[in-house]
Amino acid sequence: MKESPEALRERKRRQREKLRNLVLLLFPKDCFRCHRFGLEMEFAHLKPTGLRGRQRGSVEALRDVLQNRESYARLCWECHRGIDSGKLPLELEEAPF
Ligand SMILES: [Zn+2]
Repeated sequence: MKESPEALRERKRRQREKLRNLVLLLFPKDCFRCHRFGLEMEFAHLKPTGLRGRQRGSVEALRDVLQNRESYARLCWECHRGIDSGKLPLELEEAPF
């Protein structure tokens, strides 16, 4: 039987959710730069992995983090914005998600 579009979407969503939870376990919960908790957290590149921002949130982006763990950091959105805008030191590329 062919999978319905809804079932496929749901299966993909679950797959992404599982992968995301796995990725989150690999990183400390505080911000890499300011070590604060409780802010909205994002991932950013410390080193380029060849993956660009357009794949943000995708299964591919999450797989890339799993495979290149040392190339990523978890940042709070404030540090991430500050670094991206050049106001804070620490060279980073755009986060894939
Ligand atoms: Zn921070």
